[in-house]
Amino acid sequence: MKSDRKIPFLAGLSRRGLREWMSSEGQPGYRGEQVADWIFGRGVIQPEQMTNLPASLRLLLQARFHAPGSSVAEVSSSEDGTEKLLIELFDGESVEMVLIPSEERLTFCLSTQVGCPVQCRFCASGRDGLVRNLSAGEIIEEFLLGSERAGRRPDNLVFMGIGEGLLNYNELVKALVLLSSPDEFGMSPRRITVSTSGYVPGILKFAELEREFNLAISLHAPDDATRSKLIPPPFCYPVAEIMAAADRYRELAGRMVTLEYTLLKGVNDSIPTARKLAALARSHHAKVNLIPYNATDTEFQRPERRVIEAFARTVEEEGAHVTVRVERGAESTAACGQLRRQEG
Ligand code: SF4
Repeated sequence: MKSDRKIPFLAGLSRRGLREWMSSEGQPGYRGEQVADWIFGRGVIQPEQMTNLPASLRLLLQARFHAPGSSVAEVSSSEDGTEKLLIELFDGESVEMVLIPSEERLTFCLSTQVGCPVQCRFCASGRDGLVRNLSAGEIIEEFLLGSERAGRRPDNLVFMGIGEGLLNYNELVKALVLLSSPDEFGMSPRRITVSTSGYVPGILKFAELEREFNLAISLHAPDDATRSKLIPPPFCYPVAEIMAAADRYRELAGRMVTLEYTLLKGVNDSIPTARKLAALARSHHAKVNLIPYNATDTEFQRPERRVIEAFARTVEEEGAHVTVRVERGAESTAACGQLRRQEG
């Protein structure tokens, strides 16, 4: 595998980009279509497997691109069928993705960065800060490696793995466009969810796209005092600003926003807090998804089951739409507090 950072990723090109690259190399445009059909139709990015291309062109593609740049280094499987893939990147860094099957659908949870700059205090993945952003091609390679492992494409995609995707905005959006364009992978944007730690400038910019991607905001607290204990500056935005950005997203994208809420023992799990959260969700037409904390080696703990149930019941009784994350096996070993399944 090449370790040069300047080499582009074949998986990061659009159908049009492939045609243009071919013509810049003096190749007929239909060669670009052939490569596009391999990538978008069959999920193949290894030029040596593109059997309808001349050998010289396969060698040229291999020389000019990472194709692929990433590989699966390790798989942890759990009894319920959930699989976590450790993906080794071209430069030796690694990220995780999770394959989450259920009776009705297959969901992939993808990462957008190596490490994370937000450094939520309860999250092991953010502890050492950001190492680097993933390129769009690397994000697509995660998707393709997951599809190869599963033997099929996913029904849903959630960007809830490692990283704050909206701080890697351009590459994330390039990948989202490839995933959702009919000319490329053709997934419905309604089946793709982007998670954010509440990065307000990113939410506002994402809203301007006016595409029907789902947005999940990790609120974790309905008030600024509690939130500031969980997310350090400079990424801890005031709740009022986050909710105003959520409203803007709902208006422009036409999608109801989900408020993700990691339940932490003695921090944000009281009944008055549940009432505040419900009021906030109701007034901003948002759904609530409760995530009982998976204890890692931080100072935080998961609340007892009866506390989780009472919290969820209160949010519901106060008139907000609420779901509780279903525990899946591989999550117990997930480094990031956000590698998870959304229910509902
Ligand atoms: S929870 Fe997500 S946003 Fe927060 S530090 Fe971990 S990866 Fe980053």
